[in-house]
Amino acid sequence: MTTALRFEAISEPTPSQAELGDRYAAIGATLDSGDRAGALDEWDRLRRGYDTWSALVHLHFAQDTADAAARAARDYADTLAPEAADLETGLKRRLLSDPDRIGLAALVGEHALRLWETDVTTFDPAIKPELEEESRLTARYTELLASAKLEIDGQTVNLAGLGPYAEDPDRAVRHRAEQVRWGFFAANGAELDELYDQLVRLRHGMACKLGFATYTPLGYRRLRRVDYGPDDVARYREQVVTHVVPLVARLLEARRAEHGWDRLRFWDEALIDPAGNPRPVGDHDTLVARAQDMFAGMDPRLDAFYGLMNQGGFLDLKNRPGKAGGGFCTSFPTVGVPFIFANFNGTHHDIGVFTHEMGHAFQNWQSREQPGVDYLWPTMEAAEIHSMGLEFLAYPGIGKLVGEAAADRFRRMHLIGALAFLPYGVCVDHFQHEVYANPDASPADRHAMWRRLERIYMPWTDYGDLEFLNKGGRWQAKPHIYGSPFYYIDYTLAQCCAMQFWVRSRRDYQAALEAYVALCGRGGSAPFQDLVSSAGLVSPFADEALSDVVREAAVVLGV
Ligand code: ZN
Repeated sequence: MTTALRFEAISEPTPSQAELGDRYAAIGATLDSGDRAGALDEWDRLRRGYDTWSALVHLHFAQDTADAAARAARDYADTLAPEAADLETGLKRRLLSDPDRIGLAALVGEHALRLWETDVTTFDPAIKPELEEESRLTARYTELLASAKLEIDGQTVNLAGLGPYAEDPDRAVRHRAEQVRWGFFAANGAELDELYDQLVRLRHGMACKLGFATYTPLGYRRLRRVDYGPDDVARYREQVVTHVVPLVARLLEARRAEHGWDRLRFWDEALIDPAGNPRPVGDHDTLVARAQDMFAGMDPRLDAFYGLMNQGGFLDLKNRPGKAGGGFCTSFPTVGVPFIFANFNGTHHDIGVFTHEMGHAFQNWQSREQPGVDYLWPTMEAAEIHSMGLEFLAYPGIGKLVGEAAADRFRRMHLIGALAFLPYGVCVDHFQHEVYANPDASPADRHAMWRRLERIYMPWTDYGDLEFLNKGGRWQAKPHIYGSPFYYIDYTLAQCCAMQFWVRSRRDYQAALEAYVALCGRGGSAPFQDLVSSAGLVSPFADEALSDVVREAAVVLGV
């Protein structure tokens, strides 16, 4: 690991199925010889190389979805993935069958064994065709959304490019942006319905083949959730209804009254600041430079790491035609330096890249010396604490990115946004629980399910003349619902923890930051609730966790 490392220098040979088979056979032979530690080392090297190769292939495709070679490589990786999973699961089964569990736990950690015990129940060679098909359908969804060419006010933009219009201070512009956005989804509604219908049936079928009654328990296991289940999550959603929904309703009503609108429409929800949402202080190059100043003011470890990412070419942040939507952080476990992908659009969302995605990246970097590849990333609800936590810990220096004059307004906007996200987030989660409990539902049934649930979690929603939304189509714009089932609740659980960091940072900033950095360093070495308590946070499944942060937020926001 060297500070001179450049992204372009990272490469891994494309593995063939035969080579993978040979390498796993060699690891098996090492085990046969009685050298368990040696076999585990070989396997860790293999997985790091494979994961790095797979991450590069998927990243290159996301950087240019129109590149035929990148697509072919992505397709090949998606075809190979079930074969690799087969070999990996076989080895995990063999290791877990060893009667010397204590000796094995001493080598790899008790938590790794729990993860493997979960993993082996999620795979059987019989579901390889379904896994391949699942990747194909998910990739089609990504490609469909990336293909959007939308006309607005004389400009052609993609879905990310609509962002500035959707929160324009001019109400008519915001309305037009939503008409354009949902016009695209309405025009592709039949294919979106068909894709999701196929995905739900495919996943249900996989679950049945593996011996589960529905996809839900399999979905939880695929996310490696070892310390909570659907009942805990359902109770958490109830907490959101009790504590957060009334607060968000009050905030929105205050906004309506302030503007003198007769009703608050859907296209008014994104205009959080009455004077216009604070924007970044400059364009891409300015923000990239200012972020260095912000991190320097926060912590020398964050400062040094950001410099390494930036100088090494590990940031791709500009929006451009053909680039996949969204933002994410991916990692290359052979080298330890992660990569941030995003689509700048000139709104405050660009700032989130430096606070949210950098949180992921920093955790991955801080935990790079964890002993095995299983511990480099935690499960996703814990990973989102690192990202969302850094959003709050960046508050004191956020003026570097939005201008000092707008810093207070930015913090207020961010806090309101964080709270308003929770009802939507749990609605997305509840919807998926209903979808997978009713795998034979028709697309129309699913739209009705969504409509019913959003009235519980977001009773203020008024879609006006946006017919696609009035018919229950909003969920179709959420990639996680297609590609990462049951993932979405993770953001809401993490938000509850991130807001606890915010509360603590208001009392003692340095102590909160140290607890945050230490949590990042623990990576994925423990299950979610253990990581949470190790940082001195209260589990979101405890009743008081959400009510405490909401109480503090209500005082700060004055509602
Ligand atoms: Zn994230």
